[in-house]
Amino acid sequence: MFDVWLDLDKTIWNCYSESEVWAKQLEFPFKVVDSQRINAANGFCEVHEGFDSFIRNPQSNIKSFNIITAGAKYHTFLEDQPSYSFLSLLGYLPYISNMVFKTKEFIKGDFLKQLNNPNIILIDDDDKQLDNARKNNVQVIDRKSFKTWKDINL
Ligand SMILES: [Mg+2]
Repeated sequence: MFDVWLDLDKTIWNCYSESEVWAKQLEFPFKVVDSQRINAANGFCEVHEGFDSFIRNPQSNIKSFNIITAGAKYHTFLEDQPSYSFLSLLGYLPYISNMVFKTKEFIKGDFLKQLNNPNIILIDDDDKQLDNARKNNVQVIDRKSFKTWKDINL
């Protein structure tokens, strides 16, 4: 049974304004269009294909879903973080056991190692985060290694 720790930007969604942006750069108000899209005042967030079903209908070997992001805005309460709003608006909060929202200096592998749980899997697109997690003996899946969330089998 795996405890899956999910990155957000470019792992479960991509965000766009004039060009591609981080979720933290999108501005209120937000409005859900459908299970794959949230509109923002200055752009939109697009959830990756297959992710909605991946989190709502977990594979039998998944014990928990957890969020770990280094994409939080500075000096901002959790409830005012765009990413948190997206998770809430998409209806994902009931499926999420833990949420770790940190700013960009945060090293995920150092944190996950301290949980001392061999069943953790980090899914992330960032090579620096993946390398650090591997060095700390945390299992990882590179988001760049699969095309859609329909293709993943833990
Ligand atoms: Mg990312």
